[in-house]
Amino acid sequence: MAYSQPRNDPPRSGHPIPSFVPETTMARRKLVYEGKAKILYEGPEPGTLVQYFKDDATAFNAEKRDVIEGKGVLNNRLSEYFMAGLSAIGVPTHFIRRLNMREQLIRSVEIIPLEVVVRNVAAGSMTQRLGIAEGTQLPRPIVEFYYKDDALGDPLVSEEHILAFNWASHQDLDDMVGLAIRVNDFMSGLMRGVGIQLVDFKIEIGRLWENDFQRLIVADEISPDSCRLWDIETGQKLDKDVFRRDLGNLTDAYTEVARRLGVLPTNATQITKPTLIN
Ligand code: C5P
Repeated sequence: MAYSQPRNDPPRSGHPIPSFVPETTMARRKLVYEGKAKILYEGPEPGTLVQYFKDDATAFNAEKRDVIEGKGVLNNRLSEYFMAGLSAIGVPTHFIRRLNMREQLIRSVEIIPLEVVVRNVAAGSMTQRLGIAEGTQLPRPIVEFYYKDDALGDPLVSEEHILAFNWASHQDLDDMVGLAIRVNDFMSGLMRGVGIQLVDFKIEIGRLWENDFQRLIVADEISPDSCRLWDIETGQKLDKDVFRRDLGNLTDAYTEVARRLGVLPTNATQITKPTLIN
């Protein structure tokens, strides 16, 4: 599962800093939370965080894992591109600005403990759960909620569960579905324009408190780690299924998405290994 911000977890300042984080980052930042694919550090101002994108790839609740050089750089760029695009059409997100190749400044939010999945085409867990063939066009976008709990394997939950266990209110649910559908419309159109079908995706949503008022905003990341993206012509998979199902080179797939969208970083594969020049 892609990691996300904790809801009320206290800062884990005693947590060992992983070896792949550059020294400059270690000196400057206080670790707030580390997930499977990203790390959160304290931001420069109250209410902000720095989100660092790692190269780590995990699947099947972290049973399969690897380090894929350049993935973090690509996801930082792509998530910036999608979040900035959403902001431009009035969909609120946590994104403030990109800081460097691997880090972006974000608003600190209280993450709602639900993964919100939107599906346009049957794939992944839906095909297994309901026996629908992969690639079946769904009659309309279907929104699903999964309870964020690694130990339970993020189970599918109904709105009844969400309301009964107070994970979100009626109003929150309405707002979450509204955000999810707007993200789907935006992302589907964007992808179609570059010959890619948005099969499904997952977003996380956070509460942003402004005095006594709260509003829900799109948080975490939007990237090929959290979407299914198929080439419209060939059906080629350009998302994390390449890693999950050993279908080829994941960086090549993400680079292709970035290239088509015109957001290809120039030195994606060089960031973790600086070269000495005499
Ligand atoms: O596995 P499943 O078919 O339910 O995934 C639906 C969508 O949500 C896929 O695009 C997948 O990449 C994304 N997802 C995710 N993080 C999870 C579970 C699913 O990004 N923990």
